[in-house]
Amino acid sequence: MKAEILSVGTELLLGDIVNTNAQFLSRRLAEMGILVYHQAVVGDNSQRIIEAFHQAFQRSDIVITTGGLGPTKDDLTRETTAEFLGLNMKLDNASYLRIKALYDKLSRPLTEAHIKQVYFPEGAVIFQNSVGTAPGSAAEKEGKIIINLPGPPGEMTTMFEREVLPYLTKFQKGVLVSKVLRISGMGEASMAGAIEDIINSQSNPTVAPYAKENDVIVRITARAGNKSEAEELIAPLEDEIRSRLKENIYGQGNTSLEEETVKLLLQRSLTLSVAESCTGGLIAARLINYPGVSRVLLEASVTYSNKAKKNRLGVREETLSKYGAVSEETAREMAAGVAKTSGSDIGLAVTGIAGPEGDTSGKPVGLVYLALYILGKIKVQQLTLTGARNQIRNRTAITAIDWLRR
Ligand code: ATP
Ligand code: MG
Repeated sequence: MKAEILSVGTELLLGDIVNTNAQFLSRRLAEMGILVYHQAVVGDNSQRIIEAFHQAFQRSDIVITTGGLGPTKDDLTRETTAEFLGLNMKLDNASYLRIKALYDKLSRPLTEAHIKQVYFPEGAVIFQNSVGTAPGSAAEKEGKIIINLPGPPGEMTTMFEREVLPYLTKFQKGVLVSKVLRISGMGEASMAGAIEDIINSQSNPTVAPYAKENDVIVRITARAGNKSEAEELIAPLEDEIRSRLKENIYGQGNTSLEEETVKLLLQRSLTLSVAESCTGGLIAARLINYPGVSRVLLEASVTYSNKAKKNRLGVREETLSKYGAVSEETAREMAAGVAKTSGSDIGLAVTGIAGPEGDTSGKPVGLVYLALYILGKIKVQQLTLTGARNQIRNRTAITAIDWLRR
């Protein structure tokens, strides 16, 4: 089954709003194994909406529209859908009663314009709107299906999950099984590049990479007659992806980088302490997200000033004056110092320049040193990061935690 997304709204064409609806629908449809080869955007104009339908149905079985279901004059999508399919508009009584009850409750008059929202192409399946007024619908004629969804993202996504998903599932055979692999140490683009041929050559399973809240994810989704058949389809593809991304895959399913890292330290019976400068506690905060951390993390200190680095961690005055606070040498002494004062096996230290200004010695924004003291040995890593202050701080924290598990 092939679907297309038609986003209706002049404000999209003017660049006033970002088309997050199309992004959401594309992702959810891909996850369901429904192919989306085209997306289009048209203004609030009947004739151009009809042209877009003509083009879409030369390629696809279903068109999903968003926007233009409201009560105002420029909301034309439903009427235009009926016109294109050659269906009459008909009032849906259940929707009428629902909207009337809602307006009665609000003590607001129900106008013609509002009633317009409960007219649908004849025979359409109606999707209730539990967070707004305009219901959605799916109209069908001669094998062409048009699904009309509201524009406001909160209404659209809720309607999709509650009503449209079960409707679409009826057209699909078998079960859908997904497996999520979680990646660190590489960005979404380089990860996708490394498995590009796999992504492009697959339709079942589908392979979808994406970035979400500082996490890079690849989702493998297979459709088959039953769960074990789907898992058999996923297995060889997963093996291939694992052989390419290797230790950049830190976990699978519902987990986090901090959880996997802490579990690894627990397995090896190692304790940890952290000394942070530019990250200001982000590393500790992330690690402490995982409830099992108490048997691993002994101490975390934010030593922001030179004085704190000296007094708390024993960094030498000489080191600070000769090399500066943001230096390999200082990072080393911070890591060794925090391990020693806390009595832990591992000391992790971070010092860097998060910006927006560089330091007086001319060191650039984004220069960061990480040091790892492990049972007497010290390793140092230099990072050169770009981005705003918080991006640099977040990426430093993630890189530091990622380093612990390698
Ligand atoms: P309403 O009842 O609010 O008029 P509607 O279904 O008629 O809803 P539109 O009028 O087209 O939808 O859009 C309403 C609002 O929804 C827009 O102003 C915009 O903020 C948001 N919106 C519409 N389309 C999109 C889209 N494709 N992506 C993100 N937001 C959108
Ligand atoms: Mg509108």
